[in-house]
Amino acid sequence: MQTEFKTVIIGAGMSGLAMAARLKLAGETSFTLLEKAGSLGGTWRDNTYPGAACDVQSHLYWFSFGDQPDWSRVYAAQPEILHNIELFAEQYELEQFIQFGVEVAEASWCDERQCWVVRTSDGREIRAQVLITAWGQLNQPSYGSIQGRESFAGTSVHTARWPRDLDLAGKRVACIGSGASAVQLVPAIAGQTAHLTVFQRSPNYLLPRQDRALDTGERQALRDDPARYTELRESLYRERDGWAAGLALDGNDVREQFEKICADFLESQVPDPELREKLRPAYEFGCKRVLITDDYYPALMRDDVDLVDERIDRVEPGGIRTADGQLHEVDVIVYATGFRTLEVTGGVTITGRGGRPLRDAWGDGPQAYLGMTVSGFPNMFMLYGPNTNLGHHSVLFMVESQIDYVLRAVEALREQSAAAFDIRPEVLAEYNETIQRQLSATAFAGSCTSWYKTATGRVVNNWPGSIEDYRQATKDFVLEHYEVLGK
Ligand code: NAP
Repeated sequence: MQTEFKTVIIGAGMSGLAMAARLKLAGETSFTLLEKAGSLGGTWRDNTYPGAACDVQSHLYWFSFGDQPDWSRVYAAQPEILHNIELFAEQYELEQFIQFGVEVAEASWCDERQCWVVRTSDGREIRAQVLITAWGQLNQPSYGSIQGRESFAGTSVHTARWPRDLDLAGKRVACIGSGASAVQLVPAIAGQTAHLTVFQRSPNYLLPRQDRALDTGERQALRDDPARYTELRESLYRERDGWAAGLALDGNDVREQFEKICADFLESQVPDPELREKLRPAYEFGCKRVLITDDYYPALMRDDVDLVDERIDRVEPGGIRTADGQLHEVDVIVYATGFRTLEVTGGVTITGRGGRPLRDAWGDGPQAYLGMTVSGFPNMFMLYGPNTNLGHHSVLFMVESQIDYVLRAVEALREQSAAAFDIRPEVLAEYNETIQRQLSATAFAGSCTSWYKTATGRVVNNWPGSIEDYRQATKDFVLEHYEVLGK
C-alpha cells in the first residue's frame, strides 16, 4: 500500500509534535507523524523511572509559542511534563496526524521521483517530499557493554524501560551508573530497598538544585499576568545561556565560579572525607554533563546505601563481580547506563541520492549542516540532530530554531517551485570544520569519556556555543548553500 504526504515526521516526542503544530499553524495539513510506540511523548513517555524529572527549570522547559503550562514546581517531574505534552497535542489537535505503532524501517531518497520513500515495518510505503527526523539523541538504551548481563538470575531493568509494576521493597538493588538518570533514581528508591549499591565508574560535578513546589499564589500570579511569566522565562533563559561561557576548556571566571560551587557543595553535603574523595571528579568541569541535584549525596550517605567505585568485571547469576574479585549479591540490577548516542539515526536505515547509505556518509561520525541537513540527503531535516545538544540549557530552544529554519526551507521550496534542496558538500565541510575547531576549545573535548564524543574524541552530539549563537547561525535559510533539484 502506498500513501503520499508532503511531509513525513518520524517521532511524536516534543520535537516532532512542535514541528507538527508549527506546520499546522502555517496552514499545512499534508503531513503525518510516524510513531513507533503506542503513545506520544518520546523521552518523557519512555523515562518513567522513580524520580525522573527535568534538570532545566520548568518555566524554561517549554516552547516559546502557544499557551505556557501552569507548572507546579521549579523543576517538573516526568508525569507533569508528559501531561503537558499530551495537553499540547490535544490543543493543536495533532493526534489525527499521528500514526501510532508504526515503526520506520527504512527511508530512501528516490532520485527518479525526487521524493522520500519511507518503508514501515508493517510493509507499507509512504512517499513524501520532505522528511523530518525527530527521534532525538537519547532513545536507544545502552547497557554499558557489561559482560554476563544475560546470565543474571534476578531482575534487570534499564532506567529508560522501567516496568510499571516493579516492586523494589525488600530487594537488594544495584544501580549501575551515576549519571543524570542515576542521580534522580537513587534518592527516589533509597530507603525503599533492603539495600542499594551504586556502582560509579566516574564521579560527576553536581550543582545544587533548590527545587520546590510553587505555591498557589505564585502560580495564580503567573497565570494572571503573561508579562510576568515571560519575564521569568527570559531571566532564566539569559542566566542559563550565560553558563555556556563556563564550558570553555581554558579557565575563565564563569568556569571557576562553577567549580567552586561544586566543590563547596560536595564539601558541605558529604562530611566523610573518604566518600568525598570518591565523589570528586578528576576532569574538567562540563566535560561530562553537569548534574543538578540536592538529594543524591545525602542518599549515598544512608546506612542502607553503598557507593562502589571499583570497576565492574562482569555480571554473574548472583550479582555483580567487581575487579577486586568481590561478588555483590543483588536481586535487581538497574542499568542507569545511558544511551547509544553516537548513531543519531534512530535505528532507521537511511539512503540518499544514488542509493548511498547515511552510515557511509557518516563514516567519521554524524555531522549535519547546522545539525539539520546532510549532503546527498535532499529535503531531509533532522531535529535535535548532530551537534545540537547542550550542556547548559533547554534543548527546546535549539529545536525551535530548527523548526523555524525548516519552515523557511519549505517556504523557499514553494517559492522556487523546486523539488528539493541538497546542502552543498563544501558548505557542510566548512561548517563542520568550524564547529569542530570551536568544540576543541570546549570542556566537551576535555579529558573525560562521555556520550558526547566518539572513541577518537570527536564531539558529535554537542553544540559549541550558546543558544544565541545557534539562533544567529540558523536565522536565515540561505538558498545559495543548497543545490536546487527539480526546478
Ligand atoms: P549517562 O549520563 O550516559 O550515564 C551513564 C552512566 O552509566 C555513567 O555514570 C557511566 O559511567 C555509567 N556506565 C556506563 N557503562 C558502564 C559500565 N560498563 N560500567 C560502569 N558504569 C557504566 O546516562 P543517563 O544518566 O541516562 O543520562 C543520559 C543523558 O540523558 C543525560 O546526559 C541528559 O542529557 C539526559 N537526561 C536528562 C535528564 C534531565 O533531567 N533533563 C535526566 C536524565 C537523563 P561513565 O561516566 O564513566 O561513562
